[in-house]
Amino acid sequence: MKNKKCIICANKTIKLKINLPTFEHVNFNTISSRSILFKCSNCNMIFTNKKITNNIFIKTNYINNNNDRIIKLNKKRFLTSRSKILSNFILKNILKKKTNLNILEIGSGKGYLLEKLSKIYKRANLYGCEIGNYSKFKPYLKKNITFIKKNKLNFLDRNFDLIILSHTINYFQNPSQELNGYKKLLKKDGNLVVISPDISKNIFYTLMADQKIIPTKNSLRNLLSFSGFSTFLINNTEIPNELICVAKINPKNNFFFKKNDRIVENNLNKIKLIKNKILKLKPKELLILGTNINSAFIDQILNTRSLGFIDDLYVKKKYFRDKKVMNKKYLNEDEILVNGYNEKKIYISNKTKAKIINLF
Ligand SMILES: [Zn+2]
Repeated sequence: MKNKKCIICANKTIKLKINLPTFEHVNFNTISSRSILFKCSNCNMIFTNKKITNNIFIKTNYINNNNDRIIKLNKKRFLTSRSKILSNFILKNILKKKTNLNILEIGSGKGYLLEKLSKIYKRANLYGCEIGNYSKFKPYLKKNITFIKKNKLNFLDRNFDLIILSHTINYFQNPSQELNGYKKLLKKDGNLVVISPDISKNIFYTLMADQKIIPTKNSLRNLLSFSGFSTFLINNTEIPNELICVAKINPKNNFFFKKNDRIVENNLNKIKLIKNKILKLKPKELLILGTNINSAFIDQILNTRSLGFIDDLYVKKKYFRDKKVMNKKYLNEDEILVNGYNEKKIYISNKTKAKIINLF
């Protein structure tokens, strides 16, 4: 079979064979045990050949569970939300206070971020766009926040100061086409903010199978360059596992990262080593820390030796991958917990009597 041409820049690609389990990003169920990705030898973008339907996003169950993420800040035991962090980040780094702003979020879910932004930018007009119907949720009932269905976006006759794409770009069947559409909605000096999981920080995100593209920081910037934007990345310490890229319209932009970006290949090698480590664990019965893709991967490899998951951040979650979710406070000395996170301090700050095995 001839290799596919790059969906971004139409150059040659190489085939990457993945002999590892892959997962969907809603319930982290296993999708397959092996898969194929393509990597462009020019712009470095990694993509799948599969057609992305995104049907999952319009299901009631998905909509009901599409909530804000609680974040435990590192040093203090202080709980905050992802939308709060992001809204402050936008104020500090991107959109210093101005009046008469127009703000649009693509993939706005229940409108948590828009609601936080509406408190900062009191006189702004905010719009949230989704493929699922979220119009009944509280933020969209506010006077200055409007819900708009994805298929109605073309009819918006507004010039935006800010368009936000948070964990959205990976799911577009044709990312370049989407970006060209948003370019038409932006003011000349407007900002497009693209947020995506940073797979160099959480390597397991490389195994997310329901996305069209798996961007790295360089291939994401290349994609935006191809669509006529100049870009810069902003570091953040509060949500360190996410890439935050700010783009402005600039048809003459000449940023292009051509060097071979091997983040995905390196991640796959690291994950294989972790898989071997898990297979060599001696105990017959183990518990897994967290209810995330990291935990799903460990569960898939341990198979029947995994008894369940420990998560005290999401107390309401009772089952994950059809296994029990427990609070680690109630564990005793003879129980063993496998930790697949690389930020040990965040997740093991609460005391537990159980023995902990760190995979990193
Ligand atoms: Zn390419």
